[in-house]
Amino acid sequence: MKQIKKILLTEQEMPTTWYNIAADMPNKPLPPLHPGTKQALKPEDLYPLFAEELAKQEFSMERYIEIPDEVQDLYKIWRSTPLVRAYALEKALDTPAKIYFKNEGTSPAGSHKPNTAIAQAYYNYKQGIKRITTETGGGQWGTALSFACQHFGLDLKVFMVKVSYNQKPYRKLMMNTWGADVIPSPSNLTAAGRKILSEHPDSPGSLGIAISEAVELAAQDPFTNYSLGSVLNHVLLHQTIIGEEALLQMEKAGDEPDIVIGCFGGGSNFAGISFPFIRRNLKGGKHTRVIAVEPQSCPKLTRGQFQYDFGDTVGLTPLLPMYTLGHDFQPASIHAGGLRYHGAGVLVSQLLKDRLMEAVAIPQLETFEAGILFAKTEGIIPAPESTHAIAQAIREAKIAKEEGKAKTILFNLSGHGMIDLFAYEQYLGGNLQNFELSDREIARSLNKLENLI
Ligand SMILES: *Cc1c(COP(=O)(O)O)cnc(C)c1O
Repeated sequence: MKQIKKILLTEQEMPTTWYNIAADMPNKPLPPLHPGTKQALKPEDLYPLFAEELAKQEFSMERYIEIPDEVQDLYKIWRSTPLVRAYALEKALDTPAKIYFKNEGTSPAGSHKPNTAIAQAYYNYKQGIKRITTETGGGQWGTALSFACQHFGLDLKVFMVKVSYNQKPYRKLMMNTWGADVIPSPSNLTAAGRKILSEHPDSPGSLGIAISEAVELAAQDPFTNYSLGSVLNHVLLHQTIIGEEALLQMEKAGDEPDIVIGCFGGGSNFAGISFPFIRRNLKGGKHTRVIAVEPQSCPKLTRGQFQYDFGDTVGLTPLLPMYTLGHDFQPASIHAGGLRYHGAGVLVSQLLKDRLMEAVAIPQLETFEAGILFAKTEGIIPAPESTHAIAQAIREAKIAKEEGKAKTILFNLSGHGMIDLFAYEQYLGGNLQNFELSDREIARSLNKLENLI
């Protein structure tokens, strides 16, 4: 019999709701707090920056939320994404484990990020908002939002960290192609940017500065909103389309994953693939292991502390109850730029605290080695972020071999690496290294948090 390599869903089979795990969590997530008054926030407090519907989703306790028809229609451009059996990788590892992956790299922007970008653009458009501002580091979020905004006729201004703007022209060009205005940050357009430039004319910029600029513009104009690509509850919610599809696809494959794996930056693609499987653990009597994979150099889940901290580096955002390394923690400049974030989303943090999921940290060289093996066997060059999930899938497949036990592994391939080839050039040239963090360094950053609340 010929092997079935990949499984797709028909348009009729597509899920029509997102899954809100807050409804099923035994311990509900703690509320975000106002950074000044330290009072619990309500949806209305977010209206100056976010579409009302998104602000409501941030606090929602509904189990299932309908995906609007317009969003479902746009998803059809590339969804369902393929569920693929990695036969060649299994063979190379000589493992009794079955390995499946969900390929989110097939989206127009090349990652999972359009799943929420489209939803966010849609709700803003519905409300009559005209312009969106956002920040981007490496450019993945900016490209996804550019693609989404032009569909709904929204103007988009992307503040791109200046050093990335200069080093990564291709993502900037993708954003321009989709009609977005890309501004190297710090810029002269905002008070925050001008202040930095007056003190440090050659500032390379940072994500924190770019956030300040984007938020400042959105706060000034009632027709301009701000948009975020990870961490927040509504972002994780929109990504659950990945896991809802995967559940149906695994069923079609006649298989059942024992382990579900996702790489971890702020939590969105991990939540996307895993939350529907955690639902079955909580409600359906299943015992699927769920594992988030972070870089060894930015280990908020495995070595951070659960407490209230700011979402940004500067301290402008609400305080969020999360696993954090401290908001001014400066991660080493690894190539998985999307995983260099000091904190973790509130939903994921509570789940980890309650031991409803696991977390591991993997060093950079092991992740690239895994990425190269994956490229050679399965043909797809993965994003440096996604190689973290691959590396953990390989670890689990090796354990299965040692134990002589069959098991089924599912991981999320959050994106392809065709615009990250510079990172591969560095790896292949022997120029990459691992970054060990001492307990002292982590404690130094966490100690500063003691007086926050
Ligand atoms: C942004 C990004 C990530 C990390 O973000 P999460 O919100 O943790 O998913 C991972 N992989 C890719 C390809 C990304 O673009």
